[in-house]
Amino acid sequence: MAGESTTAAGIHFALGGHASQIDVPWRTPTMELDELRSLTREKLQRGELPRDKCQVTWFGPGVGLPCALCGRTVTPLEIECECEQSTGATLRFHQPCFAVWDEERRPLD
Ligand SMILES: [Zn+2]
Repeated sequence: MAGESTTAAGIHFALGGHASQIDVPWRTPTMELDELRSLTREKLQRGELPRDKCQVTWFGPGVGLPCALCGRTVTPLEIECECEQSTGATLRFHQPCFAVWDEERRPLD
């Protein structure tokens, strides 16, 4: 195959050894959006997630607790959304998980 032995002539890499920090401003951390949506619907149907809207919503860095939707830890590198319900319960989500739940919990009509 041609091109396998390319020496990248003319391409200059400006990596100074700090290539591990990649700016991805908004990405689903763990699952595809479609997967999250169907998981949300299942959980709503089984009553594992409420349909009530949040009384108070907080956004901040994760504190290492699991997400109410996908079940994975929200790490301090991710944005956690804390949702206080009228029942006094607190739900924690990844920011994208919260967005999906917030969308899916609304009744369709
Ligand atoms: Zn999540």
